[in-house]
Amino acid sequence: MEDYLVKATIYEGKVRAYAITSTNMVEEARKRQDTWATATAAMGRTLTITALMGAMMKGDDTITTKIEGTGPIGAIVADGNAKGEVRGYVSQPHVDFETNAAGKLDVARAVGTEGSLSVVKDLGLRDYFTGNSPIVSGEISEDFTYYFAVSEQVPSAVGAGVLINPNHSVLAAGGFIIQIMPGADDELITNLEKRIQSFPSISALIEEGNNPEQILQRLFEEEQIKFHEKMPITFRCKCSKERFEKAIIGLGTDEIQQMIDEDHGAEAVCHFCNETYHFEEEQLKALIEKNENV
Ligand code: ZN
Repeated sequence: MEDYLVKATIYEGKVRAYAITSTNMVEEARKRQDTWATATAAMGRTLTITALMGAMMKGDDTITTKIEGTGPIGAIVADGNAKGEVRGYVSQPHVDFETNAAGKLDVARAVGTEGSLSVVKDLGLRDYFTGNSPIVSGEISEDFTYYFAVSEQVPSAVGAGVLINPNHSVLAAGGFIIQIMPGADDELITNLEKRIQSFPSISALIEEGNNPEQILQRLFEEEQIKFHEKMPITFRCKCSKERFEKAIIGLGTDEIQQMIDEDHGAEAVCHFCNETYHFEEEQLKALIEKNENV
């Protein structure tokens, strides 16, 4: 099944909902970053939520989310945009633990239960929005729920789950974000809270093979859901050899000359997709020329 995301409104627009299946996108990230099971789950949940937040953006705007906890995984960084393109990495991919008391991958242990979550939205024309909140559980979904409440002041429920096969590939991944818009009354909010509290875990729903529409139908049952948009989700990195060339030129002539003298070339690796770019001695010499002609 292809990964996709749906946008919907319920209760005459007073509630906004986003749901996603992201199995292939998370598997692509796992293969590229060589993450072990618990790290895959932590990264996969973050990528899934970032894809959902990307769908809230417009045009060429981009969003970067970063979770920096005190756990062994280090930082988790993810980028998303309004086109459904997502990329991301963790600083320590080789992290795996026994499952926790609930029989789930122990994401909180990998991430840590203290630290910070930050969000940067690049809205074009040098306009940035940044938001921060502390990590509350290290389980990622709860941390983003808290982020929306304190940093964006939008009451939200965030869920993301990743299931791993015995061979460590991704069996299933997906999630949702439900947001209450201004104008929702207390009765509606109480009703929604009840639904979310009694909602099965997102992992269970994914395991049953629910698609994004079905996830929302399970949550809102008899309520009328108005689906607005369906968009494909892919792991995609915007790195290129040209971008790395610019970065190398930016290091300056002395630094490039050192690469030539000591290593007779250079190798650059993209954090986000793990793609390696090689630069031969001759190419580096050409970059020095470019630098000096600027
Ligand atoms: Zn890349």
